[in-house]
Amino acid sequence: MAERLTGKPVADAIKEELKGRVADLKAKGIVPKLGIVRVGARSDDLYYEGGAKKTCESIGMEYEVFEYPQDIDQESFEKAITEIGARKDIHGILMFSPLPKHLNERKIRSLIPVEKDVDSLTLGSAGKVFADDPTGFPPCTPTAVMEILKYYNIPLEGKRAVVLGRSLVVGKPAAILLLRENATVTICHSRTKNLPEVCREADILVAAVGRAKMVKEDYVKPGMVVIDVGINEDPDNPGKYCGDVDFEKVEPIVDKITPVPGGVGSVTTAVLCKHTVKACEILNGLA
Ligand code: NDP
Repeated sequence: MAERLTGKPVADAIKEELKGRVADLKAKGIVPKLGIVRVGARSDDLYYEGGAKKTCESIGMEYEVFEYPQDIDQESFEKAITEIGARKDIHGILMFSPLPKHLNERKIRSLIPVEKDVDSLTLGSAGKVFADDPTGFPPCTPTAVMEILKYYNIPLEGKRAVVLGRSLVVGKPAAILLLRENATVTICHSRTKNLPEVCREADILVAAVGRAKMVKEDYVKPGMVVIDVGINEDPDNPGKYCGDVDFEKVEPIVDKITPVPGGVGSVTTAVLCKHTVKACEILNGLA
């Protein structure tokens, strides 16, 4: 059976480190604060928000939730985001997306100051990530993938990494971050030919396709490390979640694997807070 790379110890280690950094900032009279922007009340947004608040509290950070009605108009929302972005006491901004269809999301995202864009919603952040600029914040989910690999001492240099998925929020930045650690990276997507064969070449396989249990025995080989980013409704267990990897079939073959739930998803809010603390340090000239 594969070693299970659970997220909790990774998140705990990040939070422990952050407690010290937050205490240092507080000693200087600075309290790091996350602004959470939400339109409407989607259950998955509320769930993530609950986790983010709990993580902030556990490390002594502050947060403020800005909730807007589903029918807010473009002009009012632009004004609100601009005001939040200008607030000196807010160092990081998390805005849930997608926004309602009547809003111009691209325009609204662009109003978030890049230095407070702790979940990579702006093109400025994407550019910084692509250019390996250390002041740029990659999205929290692929960063959580990297935190897991680092915590469990998985070597990346010279290894073959295959990323399944090319979204701007997971697949592409995951590939960039793996490349930064000197892995040789292949990105796969819905038009990739011979997908199982390509995936089998990986030493590290990152699955981010949003298809329940798509990665089966023929995608993996012994010795492989499998990181499952997917969060899908489990077709075999109504009301439960599962990953993009068919855990029962894949776990007996590979060397290490993240569970769902309890894997990547449990590290993301710790990363969100880590980014906010770093943003606060940079904004105050301390990093
Ligand atoms: P998207 O739907 O934006 O992207 C999915 C990607 O997978 C696309 O690049 C798509 O290819 C590719 N894909 C879809 N079907 C196939 C297929 N049959 N074969 C090969 N490639 C395929 O999803 P996200 O990147 O936003 O999310 C991916 C998963 O990660 C989801 O399950 C989501 O719930 C989860 N997630 C988890 C988070 C966490 O904190 N753990 C946070 C964010 C997301 P193409 O580009 O060609 O269409």
